[in-house]
Amino acid sequence: MRIGIDLGGTKIEGIAIDESGVERQRLRMPTPKGSYEAIVQAVTQLVRSIEAEQGQKGTVGVGIPGAVSPATGLVKNANTIELLGHPLDEDLGQALGREVRVANDANCFALSEATDGAGAGGRVVFGVIIGTGVGGGIVVDGRILTGPHAIAGEWGHNPMAWPRDDERPGHPCFCGRSGCNETFLAGPSLARDHRLATGQDLKAQAIAELAEKGDARALATMARYEDRMARALAVIINVLDPDFVVLGGGVSNMARLYREVPLLLPKYVFSDEVTTPIVQAKHGDSSGVRGAAWLWPPRR
Ligand SMILES: [Zn+2]
Repeated sequence: MRIGIDLGGTKIEGIAIDESGVERQRLRMPTPKGSYEAIVQAVTQLVRSIEAEQGQKGTVGVGIPGAVSPATGLVKNANTIELLGHPLDEDLGQALGREVRVANDANCFALSEATDGAGAGGRVVFGVIIGTGVGGGIVVDGRILTGPHAIAGEWGHNPMAWPRDDERPGHPCFCGRSGCNETFLAGPSLARDHRLATGQDLKAQAIAELAEKGDARALATMARYEDRMARALAVIINVLDPDFVVLGGGVSNMARLYREVPLLLPKYVFSDEVTTPIVQAKHGDSSGVRGAAWLWPPRR
């Protein structure tokens, strides 16, 4: 049995899956506020509850909105600030009496989709989560590519490629730079682009729905968005040439992305033909927690 934990800023979700990825149990609890020790205790309790119910022990993987720095062994880049600067994998390992693997949540998403999701069967899978922010992860031969800085796949803070004059210098990003992919591709960024062009204050999904009905202004916004996504993904395809690009997060529910973005890729990718499949996540919101469970790889 594999236990996966998705440790988010507002809730902690735990799942148990069997050898073939079939879900046996799922539990949720709110994330304790203000205390690192309380979070470690909550995760420990969640694992113990699952094991009591299932009547057996499992491997434990944890996805976090951040990463364990290979240099220091401490959590960095996390927006759940209680985790910052702590050796979470060691502390959980001590509390649970076994090795616990911790990884970035976008990496867990990519691992889930590469293992038995929309990217299954691909050697190289680039997974992207596009919601209120933009995160990415790379899986090669069923393993997360982490890198010495634990930032592999973090494409949200690259600059938008082939920027048009009206895209320079771009909007300021929370990372301190301007014109990052995230400032164009995140859901709120799409909404802002539409607002600035039309004065209409709509959420990203509503804009996509209007476009499907033929609304000219929404179609123009979506065309800008899709061209930007094609440019941003072309950079990844030129560097990594993945077998699949899998999209997850709130924005990934827009059906038109899977029709339109592939048509635009040949304008930007350095290849005579471009066949990279751009596909929607199979496991939806469950990919984070499933990928955490798959941090312990399948028996081969
Ligand atoms: Zn940025």
